[in-house]
Parts: sequence; structure tokens; C-alpha cells
Amino acid sequence: MKSFRKELFFQVSTRRAFINITHDVEHCLKESGIKEGLVLVNAMHITASVFINDDESGLHHDYDLWLEKLAPHEPVSGYRHNVGEDNADAHMKRQIMGREVVVAVTNGRLDFGTWEQIFYGEFDGRRKKRVLIKIIGE
Ligand code: ZN
Repeated sequence: MKSFRKELFFQVSTRRAFINITHDVEHCLKESGIKEGLVLVNAMHITASVFINDDESGLHHDYDLWLEKLAPHEPVSGYRHNVGEDNADAHMKRQIMGREVVVAVTNGRLDFGTWEQIFYGEFDGRRKKRVLIKIIGE
């Protein structure tokens, strides 16, 4: 069995953002030479997510509003976690949007469902963050 590991780095200039990382994952898959197996992609931070959905800007706007309703950033004082920091909402947004995705590799390609794309979700940006890509198979 072959295995491949790589980290992607992000430094988003805003507090929140959604970034399509599908091409980065496809590039890693090509580099790995693996034709049949599994790809794991996970955020290496507890205030960021990796998730799969549609690359549609209206949907991403809707996600942002929905997440702000569920866990509003303000008032920062409304969270017990925010003693010396202000990112309690980001931890909660990460929880609901998820830590990782796993995608099947078939014939050297990501075996996606219709319209599926992989995204990095940033909820406490303006600092360097990492995403892990691990690929195993033959
Ligand atoms: Zn925190």
C-alpha cells in the first residue's frame, strides 16, 4: 500500500471565508500516483473546517448568514470561552461544518457525487492555518 501526506497552508485576510481546495487535492492525488484508495482532508485547527458541497456563491453567502444566526460573533462577551480571546463562535461554526472529508479514489480520480467540491471553511482567519491531505491506496 502506498501512502502520501501533504499540508496546505492558508492565511485568510478576513475572519471568515470559504475556499475551494478541490484542485489542490486533485494535484496531490496526481502527485501520489495512487489510482485506487481513499483521500482524507482535514483542517488542522479547531476554528476551521473542511467540507464538501456545491461551489455556488449564493449558497456560501447563505451558509455565512446561517452560521452567524447559530453562533453570532457578537457580542463577544456572550461566550464563556472568550476570556482573553474572541473566537468562541469560530469553534462552534467549525463543529457544525465539520473537521474532515473522506473521498474515494477510483481510476486515479476523486470519485465525487454530482456537483461535489471540497472547501476549506475559515472562521477565525488573519493567521496562518493548515490543512492535512492524506492519501492511501495502490
Ligand atoms: Zn478559542
